[in-house]
Amino acid sequence: MMLKCPICGGSVEVPDDALPGELVDHDCGVTLEVVNDGGTIKLRPLEGVREDWGE
Ligand SMILES: [Zn+2]
Repeated sequence: MMLKCPICGGSVEVPDDALPGELVDHDCGVTLEVVNDGGTIKLRPLEGVREDWGE
């Protein structure tokens, strides 16, 4: 599946069987963590400190 990078807004290819907690490196240099947000798979930056990304 293709997800959106929260940093650069570009497309990120994620395996269809990706599980929450998996890490994906994006071309822009960020490491993204796969998260399950109420049943929807999303990506968030793996920076650890902030939990209030996005809406
Ligand atoms: Zn990116």
